[in-house]
Amino acid sequence: MLSSIFKKFAGRSNKKWLKSCQPIVDRINELESGYQSLTEDELKAHTAQFKARFEAGESLDDLLPEAFATVKNAARRLVGSRTSVIGQEVGWDMIHYDVQLIGGMALHQGRIAEMATGEGKTLVSTLPIYLNALSGRNVQLVTVNEYLAQRDSEWMGYLFAYLGLSVGCIKNQMPPEQKREMYGCDVTYGTASEFGFDYLRDNGMAHNAEEQVQRDHYYVIIDEVDSILIDEARTPLIISGPAPIQREQPYTKMKSGIQRLVSKQVAFCNKLANAAKAELESDEETSNSDGAEAADPFADLLLVKLGAPKNKTFMRLMERGDVRSEFDKFETEMHGDLNKDRMYALKERLYYTIDEKQRQADLTENGRVELRPDDPDAFMLPDLATKFSALDKDTSLSQEEKDAIKLKEQEKLEVVGEDIHAISQLLRAYSLYEKDVEYVVQDGKVVIVDENTGRVMPGRRWGDGLHQAVEAKENVTIERESRTYATITVQNYFRMYDKLAGMTGTAETEATEFHDIYKLNVAIIPTNEPCIRVDENDVIFKSRREKYNAAIEDIEEAHKKGQPVLVGTVSVEASELLSRMLRRKNIPHNVLNAKYHQQEAEIVARAGIRGAVTIATNMAGRGTDIKLGDGVKDRGGLLVVGTERHESRRIDRQLRGRCSRQGDPGRSKFFISLEDDLMRLFANSGPMSKILQNSMEEGEPLEHPLLNRSIETAQKKVEQQNYSIRKRLLQYDDVLYKQREIIYGIRNEALHSEDPSQTIFELVEEELAERLESESGSGEGGGYSGFATWVNSHFPVGIREEELDGLDIEAVLDLVLDKVKEAYRIKKTAENEEALIHLERFILLNSIDGRWQEHLTEMEELRRSVSLRSYGQKDPLSEYKNEAYTYFQELIGMIRTQLCSRLFRTATNMVAVENVKTMLARQAVARGPGDSAPAGPIGGGPEGKEVSLPKVAVKRATPKVGRNDPCSCGSGKKYKRCCGS
Ligand code: ADP
Ligand code: MG
Repeated sequence: MLSSIFKKFAGRSNKKWLKSCQPIVDRINELESGYQSLTEDELKAHTAQFKARFEAGESLDDLLPEAFATVKNAARRLVGSRTSVIGQEVGWDMIHYDVQLIGGMALHQGRIAEMATGEGKTLVSTLPIYLNALSGRNVQLVTVNEYLAQRDSEWMGYLFAYLGLSVGCIKNQMPPEQKREMYGCDVTYGTASEFGFDYLRDNGMAHNAEEQVQRDHYYVIIDEVDSILIDEARTPLIISGPAPIQREQPYTKMKSGIQRLVSKQVAFCNKLANAAKAELESDEETSNSDGAEAADPFADLLLVKLGAPKNKTFMRLMERGDVRSEFDKFETEMHGDLNKDRMYALKERLYYTIDEKQRQADLTENGRVELRPDDPDAFMLPDLATKFSALDKDTSLSQEEKDAIKLKEQEKLEVVGEDIHAISQLLRAYSLYEKDVEYVVQDGKVVIVDENTGRVMPGRRWGDGLHQAVEAKENVTIERESRTYATITVQNYFRMYDKLAGMTGTAETEATEFHDIYKLNVAIIPTNEPCIRVDENDVIFKSRREKYNAAIEDIEEAHKKGQPVLVGTVSVEASELLSRMLRRKNIPHNVLNAKYHQQEAEIVARAGIRGAVTIATNMAGRGTDIKLGDGVKDRGGLLVVGTERHESRRIDRQLRGRCSRQGDPGRSKFFISLEDDLMRLFANSGPMSKILQNSMEEGEPLEHPLLNRSIETAQKKVEQQNYSIRKRLLQYDDVLYKQREIIYGIRNEALHSEDPSQTIFELVEEELAERLESESGSGEGGGYSGFATWVNSHFPVGIREEELDGLDIEAVLDLVLDKVKEAYRIKKTAENEEALIHLERFILLNSIDGRWQEHLTEMEELRRSVSLRSYGQKDPLSEYKNEAYTYFQELIGMIRTQLCSRLFRTATNMVAVENVKTMLARQAVARGPGDSAPAGPIGGGPEGKEVSLPKVAVKRATPKVGRNDPCSCGSGKKYKRCCGS
């Protein structure tokens, strides 16, 4: 209700906005027709004139009509000429339409321009890019992949070059010098992750200013913005390398046990399902058996659902309306409070339970016994709180003995914790992650398939050991554990820009998220020609088999007429199945799935020619235009066949949008079955079983007014769930974001300042102040003896305690700091000035980097550990924030201490510095993951090359907590009264 009011309101405000654009459009066109009589040189001179006027104080908004008119007029003058785009000659035949001018305004205003596929968004972006580049700052355009970055930079570069703007394009493999040049251009094209990684490398890893490549975070336009800011935003960008210390991998060790468990459970569930089926069938014959017994088959079925939800017999039974409705009733009852014990007892008949929605798998008691008959408790976390408090009451032990026992218990907890973790990841790997759906195995590697784009994501890894578990399952080499050098979420990267804008065919359904997270408003731009696409109602079948058969029939029929068909699937598995079915019918076709994404663009471009049949995972080939071939218009244009509704409505819209571009004819139709994951997991069961009850013959589609609505509700549920996952991720990264800003700030000061010793002395001063403070806090008249000793052991200043007596803290600080600075000045006179600056930088960076990386690892561990605490009714996020704050304080403290102890100790002669410099150069190569890694966010260092990294910090046995903070063992007591007593 509310949402429909909102929709109306949003619709009205969009209309109002469009109306306000109209006078400007008229003005642009008027100006542009005037420009037609200019000479080429006169038009080209505009760029310099606009730049001068901007310098003189005119705003970009003031310049907009003239600038847009200039771009449009330049486009007009290029018509009929040819240029080369990725080695192919193409003719220029575009002059901005009015709707494209409006789209350009939306982008300039920092909005998302929703424009359908084929409306020419590539050309639209030229308008705001040109306008904003007049400011002299770096304007960037983000594309979904490198192929498109290159294509668009060359294609649109033709127009920009005409107007005197330089265009660059960044690529994964480029050396830094070349990247710098690209960023130096007025306009820079590239992928989101490459921009993000460059930022991380520049700020978190570069060892001198020359290695930094980006110059600005001013204005960025993101093409296919939903794909980047919504879909890709679920995984953060991480630069990582091999971990310095290898821990033993528990996955191989545990694997055979888990395998045994899984096959036992599968067999057990099979038996249950068959028994239930037999029972139900015999029930029908005898009819009306008494209630108590009738419940049994449903209990069995519930077990199957919990233990092997994709069991064939179970799914078949669920297609029967009567069974389904009884089962739903039973399930709801069992989840009620009254049946808690019974539910528990039921679950204990399984070895593990599966929660498909949350993608979790949990070992049961029964499973524990099965895994370790000799010691079922081997995989139970020891109850530390109880043990510790019993220990504390024990008077027969000394404090040392107690501490020793506690430490042992802590260690045991960690070991058991790791095993349990490995078990649950292996269970997930075996029961929830399917080969050719969630991942493929290529060249002995487990490669993730992006569920939204269907693209393989080489180099990307699931976190938290899941990837290693899948590797163990597939019998491929388990990759080394890696260590995070730098990380940022896509969201936080793009929020750094002064101005952000985006364009896509599908933004409307996600408008709230764009607004809340990015402050981006969606402007819906009308199409140039009215859209005449026919979206047919969904046809719904009980089983997958029936659905595919029906889809194939439609495809065959269209193909016979010569009408091209684009078939969308959600997984590699489904696309291969359809391909086999088509082959059996002798229908020639192209398959475009995660395994062959290189030829993606070319195949998609040909999908509109007469008689073509193309199978593609849902979003493959985004950004490539499907033009209709000769004679196809008369045959109804492109037919889009969807074979499953995607989790998000947006992606269905994207698929439909592949046809009927620029007023072409076209038709779209979705085939759905109740066995599809979306329907199984998220559709409301109530209406579903009613519908099933009225259903009849095999192969006949189901019809019910509620069906379409329940699909939408299911999709909305998933969308919301995914939104909250992204929001969570962001909330956690926000904590890190602030820390990152501080650390990167110090690093950048070190890299860019003429005199890095200033930064050093700021930190030294902080350290001195902190030490003084804690010293004086320890009691009146205690004097400064401890402080003096510390100073003398770090700086060659020979402070005597008497000197400090009677002075207040301020005065002591001033005195000591002056002495330290003086000592440093003297040292400086004996040194080569330039070499010293290098050295100072080195000391700073070196103090920061190792510690910061350790800190990142600790923060990851913290995140994992707080999520366990949610059992104790604590909000994990606020726990995380609190402790992250403490960790960070400690980090800064450690950095400062290290700095202090190195400042006077490091060798500073030329030879030493040269050594240091070569060392730096070597490290930079070894550590730059992007340099050698395949196209993918996470690149390891070059294989086999040993990198000497600082030793990893020994993990804290217990997180540091204040004495009055709640104890971290989860007891809810204060630390000092619990584990800390
Ligand atoms: P989108 O990104 O919106 O899906 P593209 O930018 O890929 O669309 O453009 C689709 C096709 O439309 C391209 O072949 C392009 O040449 C063509 N096109 C775009 N704008 C115009 C125009 N103003 N006049 C003629 N053709 C255009
Ligand atoms: Mg495009």
